[in-house]
Order: sequence, then structure tokens, then C-alpha cells
Amino acid sequence: MTKNLVTGGAGFLGSHLIDKLINLGEEVICLDNFHTGKIENLQHLLENKKFELIKHDVTEPIFIDVDRIWHLACPASPVHYQSNPIKTSKTSFLGTYNMLGLAKRNKARILFTSTSEVYGDPEVHPQPETYKGNVNSIGIRSCYDEGKRIAETLCFDYKRIHNLDIRVVRIFNTYGPRMQPDDGRVISNLIVQALRKEALTIYGKGEQSRSFCFVDDLIDGIFKCMNSDVIGPINLGNPEEFTILEVGNLIKKVLNSEAEFVFKELPQDDPTQRKPVITKALEKVGWEPKTSLKEGLKPTIEYFKNCIFN
Ligand code: NAD
Ligand code: UDP
Repeated sequence: MTKNLVTGGAGFLGSHLIDKLINLGEEVICLDNFHTGKIENLQHLLENKKFELIKHDVTEPIFIDVDRIWHLACPASPVHYQSNPIKTSKTSFLGTYNMLGLAKRNKARILFTSTSEVYGDPEVHPQPETYKGNVNSIGIRSCYDEGKRIAETLCFDYKRIHNLDIRVVRIFNTYGPRMQPDDGRVISNLIVQALRKEALTIYGKGEQSRSFCFVDDLIDGIFKCMNSDVIGPINLGNPEEFTILEVGNLIKKVLNSEAEFVFKELPQDDPTQRKPVITKALEKVGWEPKTSLKEGLKPTIEYFKNCIFN
């Protein structure tokens, strides 16, 4: 039976991935330092004999026997990764270095979750995997963007030098149940504000764009990439593109809300546009997302209602 290690498994994406693996009957060890992860995301698994939780920081080495490593550990929301930026860089570099070393020792396949942030503020639109990016190396987002870029470099050098069996996926903005209500991301902020009958915060003029993937689709994509022969990097995201104002209006419509917009300063280095080219995922891995933003907002809203009213 496959023994999986999921780093960052107490977080938003990691906990959904673990659910999928456990539902398939596989064994899972979760490593997490609970920086942004929540025990509530794993509560239903704590008595499961196929599941083991180890509180551990990936910046420290660890020696365990595993067949597959799904390396997700890293805060993903700007509020969290900017709260301790030096730690974010350490997590990306040392954490990925330690997990690559563990994969080498075990001769295990390792999948690394990179990000669309490696494209920075893109001058090519939409973004294919061949685009090299436009990243500021000294800004407030750099700890995350450059952290992910050096982590990708490490993955490919371990492949070139040690023939390690790597997979690299570049995840675009993902949303759904188990996002944290206070993680500062646009989907969580605007839904929570609308539910609380507060004004919806729009940064800048709201003309910047993003493309939002529902979590179930994304987990299916990660899973297919791990099981395919394609090393990557592979973009995973939903190419349906929205301006932030359009997102605000859609959330208001779905919630039948009359909330006002309040315009705030645009954060430094906030990308002006983002949309994945997913031809590679479609043609080589047989993956494409199925859920529109309008459909995916419904279960997400139900989840946030539970979080804030119960
Ligand atoms: P999250 O913050 O919900 O989960 C990250 C998890 O990693 C948390 O449980 C956290 O406690 C853990 N963690 C952080 N630093 C750690 C460390 N040093 N040692 C051990 N555990 C640590 O974020 P998420 O949205 O689930 O993101 C998971 C991965 O996917 C991240 O690598 C992120 O960069 C990537 N990603 C996510 C998105 C997105 O939209 N959610 C987009 C692009 C890439
Ligand atoms: N944003 C916004 N209001 C908010 C939170 C975010 O207008 O309350 C904007 C943010 O400036 C960015 C976009 O929404 O342009 C997406 O932000 P998020 O933090 O969700 O993701 P990322 O910037 O990492 O893609």
C-alpha cells in the first residue's frame, strides 16, 4: 500500500488532498507546524488508523519511510506569508531542500506545489509554462514569489543531479471550503464582508484580474499530475478570468447583497492580470477544471456561513 507524506496537510489544500488519499484507501502521514493550518481540518481523521499526524516544521530535517511526498507546506495568502517573510523564504528553500533530501533517501516521487506567483506581474497574458516571469526580487511579495522560484530550481537540480522523480505544479488562485475567513484573500474577504453586511474592500480600482479554481477541481489536478509521467512545471487553474470588481458584483448577486464597495490602496507589486494557459494539463495529463466560479461560490458561501454564524 502506498505510504504518502503530505506536508502542509492541516492547511486548506493539504487537508482536501489528504481526504482524497484516505478515501482511496491509502496511508497518509501529515507534517505540519500549524502556522496557518488548523486541527479542525483534520479532526475527522484523527481516529483513522491509516492517518498519522506529526507536528513538525519542514525547515528542520526529518527521517521517515515514505513512498510519495506531496510537498505543500508554505503559507499561501499574502497576509500570512508577509507576516514573517524571512520564515516564508526559509520554508520555501530549507523546507523544499529537506523534502527533496527525504525523497532521495526513500527513492520516493515528490510533487512540489509551486504557484502562478512565479510569473510575478506578468507581461505575457495569459501565462503559459514557458513564460519566464516578471518578478520583483526585493518587494513585499518576493519572499513568496522568489521562494517558490528557488524551490522549483532545487527540484530541477535534484532531478538533473540525482535523477530524482519530481513533479512540479504551478497553482493559480484557488478557493473553496476550509479557506480561513481571515486569510485576507479576495474570495474569503468579500464573502465574509457581504455576510456581515459590511462594505466590500476593493484594492486599487478593482480592474486587476484573477482566475479562480474551485478546490475539488484543483485537488483532482494535483492528483492526476502526481500519477502522470509529466515532470512539469504544469499550470493548474481555471482560465475563467474576472476583474476584482466583477468578482465583487458576482458575490453580491449570489448573496443577493446590497453592500457598497469601499476602495483601498492597491498593495505593492499586486499583479495586474492573471490567467493560466492550461493546454499542457489538458493534453498531457487529461485535466481541466469543471466548476465555474458561480457554481463554486455556493458551497464556499455555505462554509463561511457556518464559520462566522455558528
Ligand atoms: P495554507 O496556508 O492553508 O496551508 C499551508 C500549510 O502549510 C498550513 O497547514 C501551514 O501550517 C503549513 N506550513 C507552513 N509553513 C510550514 C512549515 N515551515 N513547516 C510545516 N508546515 C508548514 O495554504 P494552501 O492554500 O493550502 O496552500 C498549500 C500550498 O499550495 C502552498 O505551498 C501554496 O504556496 C500553494 N498554492 C496555493 C494557492 C492557493 O490559491 N491556495 C495558489 C498557489 C499555490
Ligand atoms: N483584493 C481586493 N480586496 C480584498 C482582498 C484582495 O481587492 O479584500 C485584491 C488583491 O489586491 C488582488 C486580488 O484581489 O489584486 C487577489 O488577491 P488575493 O490575495 O486573493 O490573491 P493574490 O493577490 O495572491 O492573487
